[in-house]
Amino acid sequence: MSKKRIATVSLAGCFGCHMSLLDIDERLLDLMQVADIDRSPLTDLKVFSQDCDIGLIEGGCCNEDNVEVLQEFRRRCEILVSVGHCAVTGGLPAMRNAIMHAKEPLRECLETAYGSSELVLNPENHVPNDTALPLLLDKVYPCHEVVTIDLQIPGCPPSADTLYTTLFALIEHGLSGVRDEALLHQGIRYD
Ligand code: SF4
Repeated sequence: MSKKRIATVSLAGCFGCHMSLLDIDERLLDLMQVADIDRSPLTDLKVFSQDCDIGLIEGGCCNEDNVEVLQEFRRRCEILVSVGHCAVTGGLPAMRNAIMHAKEPLRECLETAYGSSELVLNPENHVPNDTALPLLLDKVYPCHEVVTIDLQIPGCPPSADTLYTTLFALIEHGLSGVRDEALLHQGIRYD
């Protein structure tokens, strides 16, 4: 079997899912026998060197940059996987969606974060607006609402065992290797 190619990215996430991937520990060596890592925080490659077999997405989409990156992963990865609660549902960053009832929810969110909180020292009420910053979306979107997602792995984060087992099944058998098993419901945790 030829080696598969894996890419990973963190969008609106906390990198906890990538930490869980590293928690595979010495079994990463087994994984490296059957797969190479392309674009990923693990390799520090910021662009794809070639199309990949598997793309792992941590986090949902909270800004325009997240959307562009996710769309590129969809174009360049044969199997695209949402990894963790943030990618699957929006997760913690999507808490800001709860103020969608407001007249101007994004404005209210920014003013609360930077201006009106007693815990914020910001005498000029300055909201960061440098042109280098990606524009925020109206709300935080889970990945499947932006592109087609082939597989979702729940958990916050998914356990290292779940990631390892799932990755190996995907590498060896493709999507059929995981859809036939109750594998994704093993060891779900939210801590
Ligand atoms: Fe972090 Fe949990 Fe979101 Fe993963 S699912 S990025 S661990 S908050």
